[in-house]
Order: sequence, then C-alpha cells, then structure tokens
Amino acid sequence: MLPAQDNYRLVSGFEFSVLGSGSSGNASLVRSPGTAILVDAGMSCRQIVRRLAAVGQTPEKLDGILLTHEHSDHTKALGVFCRSYPEVPIYASAATRRVVGENLGAAADWRIIPKNAGFELGEFGVTSFPVPHDAVDPLGFVLRTGAVALGILTDAGHVTKTIRHHLGGCHALFIETNYDPALLEADHHRPWQVKQRILGPHGHLSNQQATALVRELVLEDAESELEFLVCGHLSSDCNTPEKVSAQVAEALGQRESAVGVCISERAEPTPLLRIAGRAGGAEAGAGEGRAREAGGLSGSPAARVREPLGVVAQQPVQGDLFDAC
Ligand SMILES: [Zn+2]
Ligand SMILES: [Zn+2]
Repeated sequence: MLPAQDNYRLVSGFEFSVLGSGSSGNASLVRSPGTAILVDAGMSCRQIVRRLAAVGQTPEKLDGILLTHEHSDHTKALGVFCRSYPEVPIYASAATRRVVGENLGAAADWRIIPKNAGFELGEFGVTSFPVPHDAVDPLGFVLRTGAVALGILTDAGHVTKTIRHHLGGCHALFIETNYDPALLEADHHRPWQVKQRILGPHGHLSNQQATALVRELVLEDAESELEFLVCGHLSSDCNTPEKVSAQVAEALGQRESAVGVCISERAEPTPLLRIAGRAGGAEAGAGEGRAREAGGLSGSPAARVREPLGVVAQQPVQGDLFDAC
C-alpha cells in the first residue's frame, strides 16, 4: 500500500495533495498527524476513494470535508459519499449548505462555517474568506497548524484586497490558473456568453492574474516563506501546463529555485507535499533523512516536487473521473 506513512513521522507542519483538479473536477487532501481534511469533492466518489488510497488515506478516517462552493466540479461526489461514509462531517457556509443540501439526496452531518471568524477542525485552525465567483457564498481558506499555513484559492474572478491579505505569509499556496487569455479568445467551441462569464469579475483567474498575485505575495514580501506553489483548475482546452509553468517562472524570478512548483492535473494526484515551514525544516529533516535513504530526495522544496515519488510512493489511479462509486 503506502509504506511511506509508516516510514517517517511528520514532526511539524502537515501534508497536502491535490487529488485532481480541473474544470471537470476538484478535490484535495490536507493532513496533519492527527487530522485529515478533504477540500472539495468534485469527482465521482469512487475516484475520490481511489485517490485517497493513493496517498494512504481511508475515507472513513477523514475528519471533515471542507467546501469552497456549490458548483458540481467541487461537490459531485457528496451524495454517494454521504451515503457511504455518513460519519464524515461536511463544513460549508450556511448558503452553500442550503444549496448543496437541497440537491444532495442523502442525510449529512453539516457543520456551518462561521462568518468572519476562524474555527478549529481537529488540529487545524481554519480561516475562510470571501472570493468573487458566481456561486452563492464562495470561500477561500487558510489552514494552519502551529505557525505553518496553506492558502487555498480556487474559482475566483479577480484578486481582491481580502484575498491578498489572507494569502500573505502562507508557506504553501494552491491557486487557480484557469485559462490562457489568448487560447480562450481563440476558442471556437464556447459561446460568447460563456467566455464573458469566465473572463468576468466573478468567473475564473487567468494564468496572468494568478501569477501577478504570486509575484506580489513572494517578490514584494521580503519575508515571504513560501515553500510550495500548486497551480490548479486548468481549463482542458484553454490552457496548458507549459503555459502555466512559463508564467510562474517569470513571476517568481530569482525566487524560482526557492519555491517548489507543482501543476495539478485532472487525471492523477500531485505528490504528497510535506509543508513544514522553513523554521521547522530541521525537525522535518529528520523524517526526510529516512525518506532520502528510501527513495532519494534532495533538500530544496523544488527538488522535493521534482522527485515526488521518493517522498511518498503513490498507487496508480484506475478508472475515469466520472465513474460511479
Ligand atoms: Zn465554480
Ligand atoms: Zn470549479
């Protein structure tokens, strides 16, 4: 199965994997030694279960599912998941809970995310913040254990002062890079109205908008401790990983070698990233030593991403994104 979970002890910080991301489905796992959280559930239940298994997580041991918003590419597993694993609570804003709950077709253990206040989910402190997107109450999140923070921003039409405020100081970021403007412009399949929705202030972030935010957070903050940047929610036909990579490299400039960059895909989970914070590096290093012996791992975050399977071996994931649970 997944030997690495027994081979090292995570001394500080936590782990993060985007199980899959794209316009057709999104889900991520955030896990500390004592708490596992699924962020969004936008694939088939079977795919989520398989992808959780690939990173050593059993679904019934999840401490909660955290929802960003109600769109089906973030929630489509919930009906089957709740019938299969009713013990796992769902955390959502009151408005998102109402909309998703109406269509769920299954009882769920709902927990309402407080407005303008943080809350605890197991070992994590969670802060939510509003995001401009065409949903009833879309949220971004910062999840913290100790001093280590992960910021999640997916499905946002533009970057606000509030978003900048919350994502500043994070050690890892998962940010939407949805489309390349030239590819979207040249696309002949989408009706004009759909293009306007995507481009609009409540649609999605382009590569340029997302990387401008990254530049601001990293280059304009001398104290930035960003270790990992994960890009996600790429449009399958109006974006490419190559375009995102080029844009990210330009945005990070001389800081590129200090930040591990990973582009999440629709078809398979990202490596399980171990986010320890630079201050926690020595402690985490003890665990890495064992991982190094096992699989070969060099020290910088970037290298950790480039040699992901040396950190945590993953199971290949079978089946289609939309197969039934
Ligand atoms: Zn959405
Ligand atoms: Zn989405």
